[in-house]
Amino acid sequence: MPNIILLGPPGAGKGTQAQRLVDARGMVQLSTGDMLRAARTSGTEMGRKVAAVLDGGGLVTDDIVIGLIEERLAQGATGGFIFDGFPRTLRQADALAELLARKGLKLDAVIELVVDDAALVGRIVKRAEEARAAGQPVRKDDTPEVFEVRLREYYKNTAPLIGYYWATRDLVQVDGMAGMQTVAEAIAKVLDKA
Ligand code: AMP
Repeated sequence: MPNIILLGPPGAGKGTQAQRLVDARGMVQLSTGDMLRAARTSGTEMGRKVAAVLDGGGLVTDDIVIGLIEERLAQGATGGFIFDGFPRTLRQADALAELLARKGLKLDAVIELVVDDAALVGRIVKRAEEARAAGQPVRKDDTPEVFEVRLREYYKNTAPLIGYYWATRDLVQVDGMAGMQTVAEAIAKVLDKA
């Protein structure tokens, strides 16, 4: 099964599409955001360290997230990984290439969900409202103020990965503004070719 990265700004739909791939294809979602949120509630030293960074919308250090991914890959490299929210910096991208190579795995595609920035803040606010209505925990970073910081981090640190993966010929762009189902179908096409 292919190993892919879902790339795109916060609110682009990476988590939603990753979940669909888990359900439909039994792929394994590796979301560093989920791992970090789990760490913060686990009462560990690392959880305490990252809590304020998560709430403020900044990026956690490369060493921490690379460590999380390394640990997870060490547990079993069955392949069919969806990297969701990782890598977010060029250093993380290099580290991922190295970790995969060490496991004898390869990256099959980097799928960029191309979205209109102006629509993103609305999506984030909606996600918070839906969670609240369903009685689920609301992410502290899903506010318009923190979203602005997250978007800035994205353009400063993560958007360069688009050029990086274009150069390695792994990049595939998908219209992330289409409906959820249409986006899922476009991703399925990429996977079937990978
Ligand atoms: P996400 O759930 O992907 O939106 O991530 C939520 C937050 O976790 C981000 O705003 C960052 O603070 C942190 N985070 C998640 N993944 C990474 C990463 N690969 N590198 C640095 N920070 C990360």
